[in-house]
Amino acid sequence: MTDRVRCLACDRVVADHYQAKDCDSCGGWQHRGCGDTGLSKYKYSKLQKGLVTHEFTCERCKFLSDSSHSLPIPIMESTSEDVNPTASHAGMLPSNRFLLK
Ligand SMILES: [Zn+2]
Ligand SMILES: [Zn+2]
Repeated sequence: MTDRVRCLACDRVVADHYQAKDCDSCGGWQHRGCGDTGLSKYKYSKLQKGLVTHEFTCERCKFLSDSSHSLPIPIMESTSEDVNPTASHAGMLPSNRFLLK
């Protein structure tokens, strides 16, 4: 870790000596104790030694990947009447005729 990265949860700098985990999805870092990294101190030490692997997805990526939050995409049906400017003009004709009389 060479760049100064900020914790996804608390927005503080993740210094080298802090225990932090990078998000598998966006690559951002989060302190082990910030939010739900699912890492215990014990597991983190094992992770540092490469004895275990740990998958972590930050809250934001979890939210974005959760399909229940995404709204169904509305199907845009473009009819010729909606985009035709003469259609609205035609709709105004009866009243215009009435005024001219
Ligand atoms: Zn933090
Ligand atoms: Zn993420």
